[in-house]
Amino acid sequence: MSSAQSPTVDPLLFYKSSPSSSKYGSAVGVGSAFPPEVEVPRWLRSLSEGPTNLWRVFLKQNDALAFSQRHGDGLMTFAFQDKDGTRRFLSAHPVFFWFYDNNHKLPQDRCTFEVITEGAVCKLYFDLEFEKAHNKEHCGVRMTDTFIKIVSHFLKEEFDVSCARSNVLDLDSTTDVKFSRHLVYQLPKIYFRDNYNVGNFVRMICNKLRLVMHSQPALHDFCVKLGLPEGDVQGLFVADKHGVMKTFCDEAVYTKNRHFRVYKSTKWKKNSPLLLSQENQYQPVLLGRQRLAEKQLFLDSLITYIGETPQDFTILEFGTQQKMYVVESVSKLPECPVVSEGVRSPHPVVDRFVQRLVSPGLIRRSTYSSSLNRIVYDISGNRFCVNVGRQHKSNNVYYVVDLSRFYYYQKCHDPDCSGFQSKEECLPPEIVFMLENEGDTLFESLSVMSDKELFDTWSAVNCAAELEESLGQDDSLEPFPEFGMSDTELLNSTAELEANDI
Ligand SMILES: [Zn+2]
Repeated sequence: MSSAQSPTVDPLLFYKSSPSSSKYGSAVGVGSAFPPEVEVPRWLRSLSEGPTNLWRVFLKQNDALAFSQRHGDGLMTFAFQDKDGTRRFLSAHPVFFWFYDNNHKLPQDRCTFEVITEGAVCKLYFDLEFEKAHNKEHCGVRMTDTFIKIVSHFLKEEFDVSCARSNVLDLDSTTDVKFSRHLVYQLPKIYFRDNYNVGNFVRMICNKLRLVMHSQPALHDFCVKLGLPEGDVQGLFVADKHGVMKTFCDEAVYTKNRHFRVYKSTKWKKNSPLLLSQENQYQPVLLGRQRLAEKQLFLDSLITYIGETPQDFTILEFGTQQKMYVVESVSKLPECPVVSEGVRSPHPVVDRFVQRLVSPGLIRRSTYSSSLNRIVYDISGNRFCVNVGRQHKSNNVYYVVDLSRFYYYQKCHDPDCSGFQSKEECLPPEIVFMLENEGDTLFESLSVMSDKELFDTWSAVNCAAELEESLGQDDSLEPFPEFGMSDTELLNSTAELEANDI
């Protein structure tokens, strides 16, 4: 994956009107204004050796992801919200994005998310949160501290990786209503294969916590082993608004193309930017340029930005057989199908459908295979098997959903039913529609909606899609509205920035 390489613009190309800068109107075209014989100013020279200035805004996430992938050069995909709340997608190099976002947007208008691209090598990250009103006795700062110690324990136990508090970039956007932290691990030259593998690791930790909470001796042993007071581990469980107790670690942020808020951005209309927490001990490596600390913090906070590729780095996998190995560069990662395991699959909409299908049973585990594009759901609490027309006494059944052909069928663990497969049934049309449009973030929130809300949203989306079709395709060529600058404006601002930084 070339996005890991240090991206550069060929200085020769830089002075020519390249096809890419004219084709993509929103790309910053500095080119033709400068004939080659003009002495190149120092700041412009450094810019020409820096990251690509190509960027483009899209209405659909899939288009932005495809563009970033096609062009490589360190382009990443961001989702941002306009003043009216509309989400759009930007393909840009993070350094360029930061330059515009930090210098040309008011703090309350910065509302951008990194799209954690499926399959991208990434850092270990956590979203910790709870509602204050339902958890008055809880101290988020102490909980975060305990949680970091527990994660360090499992990094050591599973991968023999040592991790100190100073390896954890600790970002805070707590409000009066909600405690909220993002932890982004800065383990030197160590990354996870992708965010499904991170999710598996995180779910293992949370499952372990749930397990020890059910048994006093187990809790005691666990706390002695880790050197933690029992009360601190119990304190990691918080009540949601329905009074249900769960860990304060959000296990749902490891899904396909997940949106994760970037440093200094706020949730739309909330004006609560994600900033360094008071307890943060991580210091960016600055090579003596203290004034660039903010930019470096931003880059470090990105989950899938791994910067200038080190010679060797270690990739961690956590799944059915966890592995760690050293690779030279991301482009040399061994081929391996993305398999994620857990109660939730990367497709919450399908999870909900299967959950309704097997009710009153439960999804015990789902296994998603990206190479087969299939999810296998193991079911507990409902052993009804189509083959025998009744419940089995002891063996469970499972369901397979084929995401390419949009059908599902039931299979069975009972030896008498080996080889049996029920008739293939089509997924309902509204599910097919959502799968086909996945990546358009509207659907990201669907897993938490009621059936009524789901139906209303689907109807609204249908109308919107028709409307979009009738308006034609050219909308995606619009220049980025907030960041649109003339060449002169760009040059002036860059000169200003350069003067301030050095
Ligand atoms: Zn059976």
